[in-house]
Amino acid sequence: MLTVDSLHDLKGKKVYVRVDFNVPQKNGVIRDNNRIVAALPTIKKLLEGGSRLILMSHLGKIKWKEPDPAKIEEMKKANDMAPVALALAELLPGVGVHFSPDTRGEALKKAVEALKDGEVLLVQNTRYEKGEEKNDQELAAEWASLADIYVMDAFGSAHRAHASTVGVPSHMKEAGKPVALGYLMLKEVENLSRCVEPSEADRPYVAVLGGFKVSDKIKVIDSLLKKCDKILIGGAMAYTFKKALGEEIGDSPVELDQLDYAKKCYEEANGRLLLPIDSVVTDKFEESPERKIMTVDGGIPAGFEGVDIGPKTAELYKGELSKAHLVFWNGPMGVFEQKDFQAGTIAICDGVRAIKGKAFTVCGGGDSASAVKQFGYRDDFSHVSTGGGASLEMIENDGHLPGVDILR
Ligand code: ADP
Ligand code: MG
Repeated sequence: MLTVDSLHDLKGKKVYVRVDFNVPQKNGVIRDNNRIVAALPTIKKLLEGGSRLILMSHLGKIKWKEPDPAKIEEMKKANDMAPVALALAELLPGVGVHFSPDTRGEALKKAVEALKDGEVLLVQNTRYEKGEEKNDQELAAEWASLADIYVMDAFGSAHRAHASTVGVPSHMKEAGKPVALGYLMLKEVENLSRCVEPSEADRPYVAVLGGFKVSDKIKVIDSLLKKCDKILIGGAMAYTFKKALGEEIGDSPVELDQLDYAKKCYEEANGRLLLPIDSVVTDKFEESPERKIMTVDGGIPAGFEGVDIGPKTAELYKGELSKAHLVFWNGPMGVFEQKDFQAGTIAICDGVRAIKGKAFTVCGGGDSASAVKQFGYRDDFSHVSTGGGASLEMIENDGHLPGVDILR
């Protein structure tokens, strides 16, 4: 695969860069500009070469199924990319940063033609086009015709086969134009690939899996079972496993339609799949001064639900992590949004901190990554993925992502 480093003679070339500027924002106020910052190395590299950049990204959701056109207009307004252009301009002092309110047609073409060497054009939200999420071929062909080179740097969107992520590069390839990976993509793909294809030196390979639903994670569990030496289970999904093994789980969340799957998984793992031996439980999920919180070994009594792994499990899991040479973690161990139920998730962070420098450690998943940052462990991990869904899908699909495969 080509990378931005292998692109030469950039002067005057129009480069379409698919970035992930899907930033958290409300009414034009950007809460966190991390995603814009993460794309800067690729942008700067391409600008240094004297190219003209056409940046494309989606922002938020526009539900095209909505029958009321006024509501669609509201959704568009709520996900207007113009404020992102201002934020980008601030991060690129001295660079001409332009914004195109048009997502296709003559006006967009003119805006591209007006670009000078070393300038940037950020195009309005790709999802303003109904055809984006359907990978509409006419739309993709039009976008592809705007540029001489394609660069993919939107890891968080690489699991989606949309017009801007798969349609465009396929048309550009057909036209004999170069397609390449940006720096952010390279880093993500390299680091996650190691979790997909561990080497002998990476063993023991320990996976930590938590979060809410077994059904959301079946493909991840299956894939990790094939690759890992140990899988440590926590989060709400642990109770489906416990129930499947005949344990009492009180009022804990459970997926009854996944019991057979969980049992089969546990048996096939042959001792490699570990479940919590104790739990933090409560009689009331919502925070209130009267609620009871306690720690129980083994089963969970009626009237209570499990909300975090207990301290014995935390020690057991930390012990497993201390032996690991490779760690992949997805899914919090408990309801980490509530202070009373954070300890299990923090324990995993501590276990990773303890092997810093000795093991390669990766966290992937939207909520897990935000927990790692929230608790101040970002620098203890070898890699915290920027793409929630994309990092999981890469593990699930043995390293394959539509937005990457198209560049091969
Ligand atoms: P990720 O985004 O990292 O893949 P998930 O989305 O699968 O993770 O799960 C995260 C959610 O799971 C969090 O909101 C957390 O509160 C919830 N969760 C974890 N453990 C429990 C539990 N025991 N009961 C209820 N919710 C839980
Ligand atoms: Mg999540």
